Amino acid sequence: MRRIFFVTSLILLLCRVAMAEEIKNYTLDISKVNQEASNLHVECSFSLDFQDKDSVFMNFGGGQEFSIDNFNINSGDFEYELHRESKSIVFRKVSSQKISVSMAYNYTNLSSFFIYGKGDAELWETSFGEYFYPYVPNTFMDVALNVETPDSLSLICSYPLDSDDTMKYSGKFSRILSQSLTLAFIRDEAYQQTDEYIPGKLSIYQIKDMQCGKERYDELLALTEAAIVFFGKVYGEDYISAERNVTALPVYLFHNGEGFSNRYNIGFISASQEKFSTKPDIYPLMHEIGHRWLGEWTLLIDDGQPGAYFIKETLNEFMTLMFIRYVCGNAYYETQLDWFKSEYEKIKGTPQDEPIVNVVTNNNNTVIYRKGPLALIRIAEQIGYGELMSVISGFYKEYAGKYPLKYTDFIDMVNESHAGVGDQLNQLLTAQSL
Ligand SMILES: [Zn+2]
Repeated sequence: MRRIFFVTSLILLLCRVAMAEEIKNYTLDISKVNQEASNLHVECSFSLDFQDKDSVFMNFGGGQEFSIDNFNINSGDFEYELHRESKSIVFRKVSSQKISVSMAYNYTNLSSFFIYGKGDAELWETSFGEYFYPYVPNTFMDVALNVETPDSLSLICSYPLDSDDTMKYSGKFSRILSQSLTLAFIRDEAYQQTDEYIPGKLSIYQIKDMQCGKERYDELLALTEAAIVFFGKVYGEDYISAERNVTALPVYLFHNGEGFSNRYNIGFISASQEKFSTKPDIYPLMHEIGHRWLGEWTLLIDDGQPGAYFIKETLNEFMTLMFIRYVCGNAYYETQLDWFKSEYEKIKGTPQDEPIVNVVTNNNNTVIYRKGPLALIRIAEQIGYGELMSVISGFYKEYAGKYPLKYTDFIDMVNESHAGVGDQLNQLLTAQSL
């Protein structure tokens, strides 16, 4: 029976590959020169082979009606529609199956404006719903990227770029996740950059006059090194992996924007400078290191799907707790755990205390980051912490980069190695309260 399933899924997979559109020679030229805050000029070109499709949808545009301005495109061989409300562009086949598209536009990123506008770094993130270049989501593509900046700004990208002088950057990337290009423009004048070797190169950008003390700085280096070693062992895959398109250690970019959440953007981790310098602990930054393996760039479950944030965030938060348990010591772990419990107690039984699988957008921190890990700890208490960690590690190895993904893929995997335990976990994830 398994064999039949295998052959059937192989045929289905081959059909899918044969039917999928093909995008080649994708070039993105971005200019920040003479652009106001949160604005870019973009030129983008690619060839599109419809294969046996009549139309191809790409994500494109931002939340606000005027995110794309002065739009120019070489139509003629094809028809297109720009859907500003659904943030997409649709290409329709007219006669030729293969078309060449080239477009130019100005893009205003209002999310960036409101979150980072008053700060000294400006972040461009597709994960904030700003699709500043067109792409077919959850596919992999080759991209040639060129970015030009005024000489007052530096650039950090989710993938390493070469720069021949201080204003022109370029990179050629193979098979990157289409939505994973992220940019940060930073005002040189406001920043202090330091480079450390742990042993790989780790760059740290801090706001001048807000830098943390030496003790905190050293703690960041030590914890980062320890987390990279720990997670590398757990997942059986080093932080740097050509296969995963991770070719360097992350850059830490501490900003003074309004956004207080920490974010992992493959090539860099952004976080609030104020929080980093003043909060009592910096283990949340190790959670960001953990996203190198488990998170939105590897586990491709769509927002809106049941269990989306259990998959993208809870699993990684549980593994971060395991890092604390095994590396930072039991006393520290117990303190963290007590805090998790007390945070959950605050909402237990209230309308906020919704089933974990119901959180399908990143909007309920306590359920996803506190209650979720507590549910996993109940399972770990039953089958063993090492066992649960190896199931999660196996899940990563099996499902990283695969689309579509469902949270029940994880439940099934737990059931496969521990009969019935996946069902118990599913009960905890679907229950109103723990
Ligand atoms: Zn996270």
